Amino acid sequence: MFKALVLDQIDGKTKAEVRDLEVSDLPNEPLLVDVDYSSINYKDGLAITGTGRIVSQFPMVPGIDLAGTVTESHSDEFSVGDTIIMTGWSVGERFWGGLSEKARLKPEWCVPLPPGMTSHDAMVIGTAGLTAMLCVMALEDAGVTPESGEVVVSGAAGGVGSVALRLLAALGYEAVAITGRAEMESYLIAMGASRVISRDSMQEPAKPLEKQRWAGGIDTVGDTILGRMLAETHYGGAIAACGLAGGYKLPTTVMPFILRNVRLQGVDSVMCPKETRTVAWQRLQQLLSSEDLAEMSQTISLEEVPEYAEKIVNGQVRGRTLVKLTAQ
Ligand code: NAP
Repeated sequence: MFKALVLDQIDGKTKAEVRDLEVSDLPNEPLLVDVDYSSINYKDGLAITGTGRIVSQFPMVPGIDLAGTVTESHSDEFSVGDTIIMTGWSVGERFWGGLSEKARLKPEWCVPLPPGMTSHDAMVIGTAGLTAMLCVMALEDAGVTPESGEVVVSGAAGGVGSVALRLLAALGYEAVAITGRAEMESYLIAMGASRVISRDSMQEPAKPLEKQRWAGGIDTVGDTILGRMLAETHYGGAIAACGLAGGYKLPTTVMPFILRNVRLQGVDSVMCPKETRTVAWQRLQQLLSSEDLAEMSQTISLEEVPEYAEKIVNGQVRGRTLVKLTAQ
């Protein structure tokens, strides 16, 4: 028997409960994994609270991330004892996920834990950190360098934002943090922000073109703030957009694109090809120290997950939230 968080839908409402399950309850996939840690992302918050239409079938074990050890393998790719990371691929949405002491997984969803990285650190990074790395890679691909000028990061005190600041600082960029929580200033500076600006100062709808302020940007919130970031981006700059914590709309015009050669690059971590994610995980291992990761994370138990799911949806969580499962 092992413990898992199980979501059910009762009278149209999502109910989350920690239950005892048997291995035979798990879906039939080639790898059986002892889950060391999972984590809570914004999407997990939406799924567990039933706020967004994330889960496509019930009962569902949520958790879009996990790191653990293979205990049974019917695959040539992984052997018993291998340590793996799994993020995305609609796990925790369409397939049973990581908020469980055991999980059955498809090998193609998994990447090996990079040498030198612990499963704890992998889950501090999780989907949020992988997405932050993919956003940084998108800016690099667009030619934004540390010499180009300041890079702005929205939703900075959240999971993606915190890791993005740390990565940008490690690579020598001047990162400017946008936050709605003034009390987060010292945390954001510790994460690597060169300065912090208020969410309010970015929330007024922008004119088609505003004064050029940013060489690049990483946006996790969407809507008016993304519109303003685009209108304020330098000639030839780029914005990597990955989130919608502030809304899914995008009030903008074609002006930044046709007059300033600005690039808007969408970033998806869920279906990101395995080759790209392997490179991203290797770079994460090189750029982030365990000390960096300890500073941006807190660890909770499986029983505490529903409470933290509410908090993340309400924008009350700082950095990354780990869920300890079978880790010693
Ligand atoms: P998170 O930890 O909850 O962080 C979101 C942050 O957004 C909050 O900490 C807050 O930052 C800010 N925020 C919250 N409500 C806001 C509002 N109404 N208006 C403006 N800003 C607001 O979430 P996360 O895990 O970092 O994810 C961030 C976003 O990225 C989510 O929309 C998530 O779905 C998306 N995401 C996408 C991918 C992908 O593959 N594309 C992967 C991971 C995440 P401050 O308190 O600092 O203002």
